[in-house]
Order: sequence, then structure tokens, then C-alpha cells
Amino acid sequence: MKYIKCPECELNYIPEGEKFCSDCRRRIALPFRDLVRGKESGTNSRDVYEECAKRYRWDMSQANRFGKLGLLLYALKATPEKFSVWFIAHSNWTGDKGGKWQNEISLDENTIEVIWDDPLSARAADFTTCVVHARNQYGQYEFLGVYKPDRDVKRVVKDGSTRGIVTFHRISEYYPIKAD
Ligand SMILES: [Zn+2]
Repeated sequence: MKYIKCPECELNYIPEGEKFCSDCRRRIALPFRDLVRGKESGTNSRDVYEECAKRYRWDMSQANRFGKLGLLLYALKATPEKFSVWFIAHSNWTGDKGGKWQNEISLDENTIEVIWDDPLSARAADFTTCVVHARNQYGQYEFLGVYKPDRDVKRVVKDGSTRGIVTFHRISEYYPIKAD
């Protein structure tokens, strides 16, 4: 991958093809009313979910799936488009692992890999399109985009064991998705 200087701050390096570095993206996303890539919405997933639920008519009855530690912060088909809502608390961004899987956000943030310790467990994935926030290094839930998963589980050998990987690909940097 080739790196260039961020045209906005001329300070940070970014992969070629990216518009801005993550610092500039957050600053630019700030005034947006809708969810836009880089926007930070708060440190408590339940508060962020409830605010989005009011604004975008997400399923409020699923709000109790958020805000507690040790929960999978996930609401199945909770948006009017039947997208699922996913808050990633643990990933390579935070340098830790949540449960029996690991979330790996690519450098350009275009893909998220969910790497299951046990490849059979990966079948538990429901393969729905997801609206995704991830906890960043400042403890803030930052909007990443809308992601569509591959329909199959890839098997790889990692650290000497077979793992099952479900890969999500970004289809929009905005929510609601804007028609061009
Ligand atoms: Zn920058």
C-alpha cells in the first residue's frame, strides 16, 4: 500500500485513495446531523443507540442490548431497512478481544473481519447488513459506515489453530444511505 500526506492537515500519512486522515475525518464529521464516517457519538453505546433510535426509527425495544459490559452489543434487523446495529467494543482499535472472536478493522476501514476461535461458531453469524460503530482509542463510539458481510465463512490457520472468518465490506460511509 502506498502512503500520502493527508491533504487537510498535511501532517498525518494516509493510504493512497483515502481522502483524509482519521483526525481530520472526525473534525469534518462533527457538524453533520446524520451519521457520517468518523463521527464520534459518545462513550455509552446505549445512549448512542437510543438517540439513533429516536432519530432514525430504530427498534427501541432492543435498546437494552446496549450499555452493559460483557454483552454482544448487537440488535438484529433493528433499522427500518432491516439492517442490524452493531457496536464494536473490542477490536484491533482498542487492542483487546471481546468474546470467542476477534474483530479486525482494516487500515482503510473498508473491511471488518470477525475471526472466530472456533470455525463452527462462525456459523452462528446471521449475515445481515450492519450499521457499525466502533470504540476508538479515545473511548468514543465512532461511526464507521454500513457493512455487508460475505455469505460464507472462510477458514484460515492462525496461531496454529483453524479459525473461521466472516468478512464485512463497507457499502456506505453514511447512514441513512444517500442515493447519489
Ligand atoms: Zn489530516
